[in-house]
Amino acid sequence: MPVVTVPDPALVVLVGPSGSGKSTWAAARYRQSEIVCSDRLRGVVGSGEQDLDASADAFALLDQIVAARVRRGLNTVVDTLGLDPERRRAQLELARREGLPAVAVLFGTDAAECRRRNRSRDRPVPAAALDRQLRRMADAASQVAAEGWLVVEHADEAAVEPSHTSGSQAAAARQRSRPARMSFVLQISRFAWGEDPAAWLAAIAAAAAEAGLDGIALMDHLIQIPQVGRAWEAIPEPWVTLGMLAGVTSGLSLGTLVSPVSFRPPGVLAKAVATLDVLSGGRAFCGLGAGWWEREHAGFGLPFPPASQRLDQLEAAIETLRALWRQGTRAYSSERVSLPETTCYPRPVSAVPIIVGGSGERRTLRIAATLGDGCNLPASLDTLDRKLAVVRAHCEQAGRDPADLLITVLDAPVLGADRDQVATTVERLRRRLSAAAYARLHHAGTAADHIGRYRLLAQRGVGTVFVSLPDLSGPDDVLRLAKVTAAFA
Ligand code: GDP
Ligand code: MG
Repeated sequence: MPVVTVPDPALVVLVGPSGSGKSTWAAARYRQSEIVCSDRLRGVVGSGEQDLDASADAFALLDQIVAARVRRGLNTVVDTLGLDPERRRAQLELARREGLPAVAVLFGTDAAECRRRNRSRDRPVPAAALDRQLRRMADAASQVAAEGWLVVEHADEAAVEPSHTSGSQAAAARQRSRPARMSFVLQISRFAWGEDPAAWLAAIAAAAAEAGLDGIALMDHLIQIPQVGRAWEAIPEPWVTLGMLAGVTSGLSLGTLVSPVSFRPPGVLAKAVATLDVLSGGRAFCGLGAGWWEREHAGFGLPFPPASQRLDQLEAAIETLRALWRQGTRAYSSERVSLPETTCYPRPVSAVPIIVGGSGERRTLRIAATLGDGCNLPASLDTLDRKLAVVRAHCEQAGRDPADLLITVLDAPVLGADRDQVATTVERLRRRLSAAAYARLHHAGTAADHIGRYRLLAQRGVGTVFVSLPDLSGPDDVLRLAKVTAAFA
């Protein structure tokens, strides 16, 4: 069956006679609070859902509720007959004014079936009334198309798709039939570890392994950043923490995403990463960036030179790491780095990947393309496409096959077990952003939604997704990722 998608959020107007299955369809796809239903509102302002004397009041309320939700950019499903062109026109205008897609879903259920279902109801619609509805329905399909709605002609073929990722439903279907592989690494940026930090970390790591993740990355900051939490929340030194994790895990790769070059002299970083690689049996990776937050440097007595100098440092740091990690102890000398010897024991036991983070197009991406093993980019598809084109052009300019560069993304998804949990989580985390804006920013969705989105990333050549859960508080949150990783294993 072809996948016909209804974008979310949208104003979704159901169009069909009594008994055509509108309310059943809506209940199977949407939360109760997203559905505005004239029958239910008759039950609220009148004596019952079939109290036709209450219709005028019920519809006045309905219009008001729909307008209020649409103004907030909230997904809204209008469960009425949908057969009145005047009301439809007003609804379409409202959606256009607020920039929401306007979708009409047609319920062309066979007339005999509608009559049969109507007769078996407790309080059937009078047969003559149903006949009138059926006649109006015959014209509705062509009317609705002419009015300018996005039309879903066969309701039963429709699947709801988050509008932050159009094409995700079809991509999820492709992933089911011809799976692409991709690896997932849990990025930890918040440490809600309570009374027993080591036990919390060990439990998170165990959950990551159980959920099929391939590694753990720690954020590297000296003060918790405002994008994630409050300044007084714990943010541990990552290489020390990774050393502890090396001791309690066996299969997970371990590293930072990303370490600013401004925190540690590159030689000292080389020593720390080499040590982690040895103690973990070759599981280390090293994310590296130019740093960006002045405050944490000032607060810890570290210099914070201008960006151009920090980018010079980034280049020099990558060269230094590689020089100290390679075989032998001979001197290293280049335009940027001069070391009289490179005596660094223990040397790493694996080829430790250096992943360059940051998306400055002129320099950072060039550094990633020329010196990095990997390049970490934002996960939003529009931005990603732009950055990918730039980094691949840098590769070609440097005479490097773009396919040799590992592309990674940092993604902070709201992942709910179902539509209800997605909405509750967005509402809990959104702070001052609107729910719609927060959902877009964090690609809020169910596992099925994320599988489609990640498939779109895999198609673009992304090899690893660093997943940072904005609601990470314990192992159960990590376990929710199992469905996603299983689809790409
Ligand atoms: P509405 O009047 O258009 O909102 O229709 P309802 O959703 O209330 O459905 C009317 C009756 O048809 C209910 O008893 C439903 O259980 C039944 N129904 C709805 N959709 C389907 C369907 O797809 N298949 C079958 N067999 N019954 C359905
Ligand atoms: Mg109904």
